[in-house]
Amino acid sequence: MVDKNRLLRQLPAINIILQTAEIQALIREYGHPLVSEAAGEVVQQLREKILKAAEEDYRGLDQEITLKNIIAMLMQRVYEKVQPRLRRVINATGIVLHTNLGRAILGQKVTEALTEVASGYSNLELDLSTGERGSRYAHVEGLICRLTGAEAALVVNNNAAAVLLVLNTLAKDKEVVVSRGQLVEIGGSFRIPDVMRQSGAILVEVGTTNKTHLADYLRAITENTALLLKVHTSNYRIIGFTSEVSVSELAQIGHAKGIPVYEDLGSGVLVDFRNYGLTYEPTVQDSIRAGVDLVSFSGDKLFGGPQAGIIAGRRELIEQCKKNPLTRALRVDKLTFAALEATLRIYFDENRALMEIPTLQMLTIPYGDLLKRVKRNARNLSKALGGNAKVEVIQGFSQVGGGALPEENIPSPLVAVKPVYVSVNWLEEHLRGAGTPILARIQKDQLLLDYRTILPDEENEVISVISELLANSSRLVEQEVSF
Ligand SMILES: *Cc1c(COP(=O)(O)O)cnc(C)c1O
Repeated sequence: MVDKNRLLRQLPAINIILQTAEIQALIREYGHPLVSEAAGEVVQQLREKILKAAEEDYRGLDQEITLKNIIAMLMQRVYEKVQPRLRRVINATGIVLHTNLGRAILGQKVTEALTEVASGYSNLELDLSTGERGSRYAHVEGLICRLTGAEAALVVNNNAAAVLLVLNTLAKDKEVVVSRGQLVEIGGSFRIPDVMRQSGAILVEVGTTNKTHLADYLRAITENTALLLKVHTSNYRIIGFTSEVSVSELAQIGHAKGIPVYEDLGSGVLVDFRNYGLTYEPTVQDSIRAGVDLVSFSGDKLFGGPQAGIIAGRRELIEQCKKNPLTRALRVDKLTFAALEATLRIYFDENRALMEIPTLQMLTIPYGDLLKRVKRNARNLSKALGGNAKVEVIQGFSQVGGGALPEENIPSPLVAVKPVYVSVNWLEEHLRGAGTPILARIQKDQLLLDYRTILPDEENEVISVISELLANSSRLVEQEVSF
């Protein structure tokens, strides 16, 4: 007869579990405190299960509570405890700058530079030629200026910080003129009017949602105007009956009236996308050439580098920003500088940039090259999946993401997987829960894999994870049928 008390007595003592050879090996790897804590949790979990169990479950529990099973449960639990929470995932969504998946990824040269600086001492704030204290900004300032045509530059934590710093430095308690069509909200609750208030600047809205004219700006300028701000409406478009004042026109008014003009470019591209079949995005160089006094952009959007906010423009204004105490609070660390410098250096050769900066490489890969990869993977996946799923190549779209080029749907061939034994939602959920999580889109009853954002050395992993999951899925269904 199996009863509750017998089941409870059957639970091994924790020190017995900890003394087994398997668990001793686990202790050597992860330490006694972590493993014994996990052992306590596993035994407690089983105890609760026994106490809650109904009589008809006793026999099942009797078979479950063996030392062998408990060791397996404990190993699983320890594995879950040591698994980092922040980890690599495979992006099969085709959204190149996916904010939830960490935006831009860094190429090999850049990660090498980063590791080198991270694992040793560096001349972060030392001028090696004089032996005196140097500026951390010196490592990138010259490079930013040469690439963009600006006189001076500064780097802060992200572009939101850049906007806050510029407004606080140049326009605290003064008026900043902005078109109503540019009072945008960027993801993560960054709203221009809110940042403006936080910076201490006074927002002066001009024009209407769809149309703002030169005369609107001219009428709004007073002796209290400190700045004319143009915001790139990164993540949305006003279409139809619209007009905005161009940066060069705005720069002309600013110069005539002696008021600095600042453009928040958002994404900040350095290459002309029209040369690669994409929609024109104003480049940082274009903005400087048009005569703006300051421009700022993100490091980890279309620029394709680490998270940062890059401010470039007239020396005198950059110097004012550098002296603002906020700059110290918004400053970036040596890892960012290492990655940023390496990224900037790649840009000196545009062809290299297209190959070595993953964001640009993914956005500009020729359709034919992508199709070859997609067909090869569809074949291999189909072979590995056997009868567990139907695999085909379909026509679809990738997206830029990261609040950039919102209308740009880049035509892409996709691998579509339709599982035979389980629902597509089951597959999507289990891919997300895999050892290396795979994030994919669902369209109707198919799972879509976009190889634009799957890295070449992730291809085999994708195939093995999906085929293992679906091989188990057919067994799952067989079991259910036999019940
Ligand atoms: C993305 C964006 C920001 C914020 O930049 P982060 O680097 O994400 O802080 C600010 N302004 C515009 C126009 C943007 O597109």
